[in-house]
Amino acid sequence: MKNRGLIDRYKHFLPVNDSTPIISMGEGNTPLVTSQSLYKDIGCKNLCFKLEGSNPTGSFKDRGMVFAVSKAIEEGKKRIICASTGNTSASAAAYGARYGLETFVFIPDGKIAMGKLSQAMIYGAKIISIKGNFDEALKAVISISEEFNIGLVNSLNPYRIEGQKTGSFEIVDEINDSPDYLFIPVGNAGNITAYWKGFKEYKNHNKIKKLPKMMGFQAAGAAPIVIGKPVKNPETIATAIRIGNPASWENAEKARDESGGTIGMVEDKEILSAYMKLSNEEGIFCEPSSAASLAGLMKLSKEGFDFRDKNIVCILTGNGLKDPATVKDNVVSEIFKVDSDMNKIRHKITSIMKE
Ligand SMILES: *Cc1c(COP(=O)(O)O)cnc(C)c1O
Repeated sequence: MKNRGLIDRYKHFLPVNDSTPIISMGEGNTPLVTSQSLYKDIGCKNLCFKLEGSNPTGSFKDRGMVFAVSKAIEEGKKRIICASTGNTSASAAAYGARYGLETFVFIPDGKIAMGKLSQAMIYGAKIISIKGNFDEALKAVISISEEFNIGLVNSLNPYRIEGQKTGSFEIVDEINDSPDYLFIPVGNAGNITAYWKGFKEYKNHNKIKKLPKMMGFQAAGAAPIVIGKPVKNPETIATAIRIGNPASWENAEKARDESGGTIGMVEDKEILSAYMKLSNEEGIFCEPSSAASLAGLMKLSKEGFDFRDKNIVCILTGNGLKDPATVKDNVVSEIFKVDSDMNKIRHKITSIMKE
């Protein structure tokens, strides 16, 4: 089936009117991939990974951005602006380039993965690096967007949440049910808010009978919702969720409480372990922040949580290629050097081949 883009596909569930441009670069319709190996460790009935890294700019941010940009165009805006740990800026810059909007992105100084920064650069966004963290960058763009009437495309923009809720529609449309548990990384908490909204809307339309439990996971060094107060200097290897004062904090708590789920935290070493297992055992390379969802599931399973008979979906929010430095710094992988001589090559191969 041709990918019409998610605004067109889900227009009956989105605030689309006659003057809303139906724009797209093929976002959404991402693979829901069944676990081959890790589900056994978890002891669940079925485990699936939703590969949001397959979106046009490599993260789920495109779902919300396409709609936020569509609405900005509808409102006659010529400029958009966002603060970003990386992926929002990559997405804003791409849609801004495609639809002729001048794009400003504010990034926290030095804490952005190289792949993401290079996206903002190649798409031609105007990049402002703030000597401060994400939370400070977000404050700045809110004020600038009001002062200069620039379209704010952070997830405070309700159209971002509207676009992102299509992730849950796709899961239901594919499995004709809702999963029992949805595991999802939590940073600024827009995505958990959006997925919960999507599931509830599908339930209201009788597309599903039950709702999933929402299982959000923050990084331990950036876990304000878990500890119950903002974190002044959030620190984690998972830069996309390195956020100390989430914009959608209350909505995340609502999603947790209404669904009977949880918001927990995982250590960086648990995130890295899940990140490597996904690659080694499932062939799925996501970014470290994305692996927080699986890390949370692995943690609960280790703690004795009973997932028998349960269908679980983990949202893998972004593509591993965005952040090759994390591989270089954390994964021990020998590269075997050998002369271009068939005998030597044969000898090397037999010496490293499995029995
Ligand atoms: C933005 C982002 C998150 C966090 O999503 P929130 O909506 O801010 O909670 C997680 N993973 C990746 C890869 C992201 O880009």
